[in-house]
Amino acid sequence: MQNHISAEIISVGTELLLGDITNTNTAYLARRLAVLGIPLYRQTVVGDNDTRLTQALQEAYNRSELVILTGGLGPTCDDITKETVAQYFSLPLEEDAPTRAAIESYFHAKGRSFTENNYKQCLVPAGATVFTNSWGTAPGIGIEQDGKYAVLLPGPPHELKLMFEETVMPWLSRLSPDTLYSLNLHLTGIGEGKAESVLREMMDSGENPTIAPYAGEDDVRIRITARAESEEQAKEMCTAAAEKIRETAVGKYIFACTDTPEAAAAVVEHTLLSVFSKHGLTFGAAESCTGGMVCERITALPGASAVLQGGIVSYANTVKTGVLGVSQEILDTYGAVSEPCAAQMAVGAAAQLGCDIAVAITGIAGPDGGTAEKPVGTVCFAVACSGSLGGQLHTYTEHYRSGLTRERIRRLASGRAMQMAIAAAKEVGARQA
Ligand code: ATP
Repeated sequence: MQNHISAEIISVGTELLLGDITNTNTAYLARRLAVLGIPLYRQTVVGDNDTRLTQALQEAYNRSELVILTGGLGPTCDDITKETVAQYFSLPLEEDAPTRAAIESYFHAKGRSFTENNYKQCLVPAGATVFTNSWGTAPGIGIEQDGKYAVLLPGPPHELKLMFEETVMPWLSRLSPDTLYSLNLHLTGIGEGKAESVLREMMDSGENPTIAPYAGEDDVRIRITARAESEEQAKEMCTAAAEKIRETAVGKYIFACTDTPEAAAAVVEHTLLSVFSKHGLTFGAAESCTGGMVCERITALPGASAVLQGGIVSYANTVKTGVLGVSQEILDTYGAVSEPCAAQMAVGAAAQLGCDIAVAITGIAGPDGGTAEKPVGTVCFAVACSGSLGGQLHTYTEHYRSGLTRERIRRLASGRAMQMAIAAAKEVGARQA
């Protein structure tokens, strides 16, 4: 184990030098390095210029073993970070097959073709570690050579943060003599910004453990990370901090707590199964734009059969009317992407599937099919309880921001539907208690 590693950060981007954007990535990374117990000695900003970046790298490695670079991983020719770092380490760039597959499917989903420029993003320095980008196209990269370490991260802060928390922190933790332990508190019904403002004081005062909120895929997460000599000690510190957070105004939004990336990735599915099982309820889904994704995500977990009754993929309107009993009048008056339609789909699914609680999803995932009134990203949801449980019905419409891919919208919608089902099951459980 090494205990004398020190780090520097190089932020790449002419926009940063011009003051067009504020360097929030460095502030975030500085806090996370402190958690890792890796001393940070310098921060440098360079423009999109390979000569000056090479110089900055040479200088940084004269002083430190670890250099973290942010930005400049995009597809255009002024994105030079990867190429310059690869050259510095004399590593050829090679195609990374999983990255290529991910980028191709990203463009396919957007209805755009894969160009020469995009190919540039599939290349990684030979032998490097690839950090998957769950929000964008540019993968992160880790290089280790002769006691020198480099980490390359994408510029967009939400991409960088998620990647750093999920894959880079574990990769870097071996460079620190201490043990790190992290707990994720998963929140729903509150935004990242609001959670951050409630926890600001705790975040500012806590150096160990640290508290960092960030946007997960189906939730907002508060990551608590402690550094200690033993894992047991670090765990205790995290648990105590989690208790304090539960007592704040964000406490009521917490729906789960996880301590592994695997559990965090499927937290909504796990929560759905455990809440439904706890209250002895069964679940079903009527899915249009998600095409069965909710059921797919749930059946991926062992134990799904105790809860999941089934699903109906009601993509065509004829299936919505013929199988789920959506009325032609609702379709003519409000359209298939509407809360009244979702409501009838959910009620129909609960009846057809014979389940206690059913969700329905109908939306426009794009890239085509949007209108001024209902743009791509409009998704309507409903959750219905069976008549024997009181027949409650909730509907909701989400307008996912433009620029999200079809795949992303479908994925987000499936998570949202599960969150609605969990809330309904909790409501039923509370009434039954
Ligand atoms: P992309 O693949 O999206 O092009 P990239 O890795 O090439 O990502 P940049 O093009 O350098 O990143 O930056 C993309 C955007 O990310 C910037 O326009 C800015 O909004 C944001 N960004 C970049 N660097 C930083 C930073 N240091 N702090 C805060 N935001 C940043």
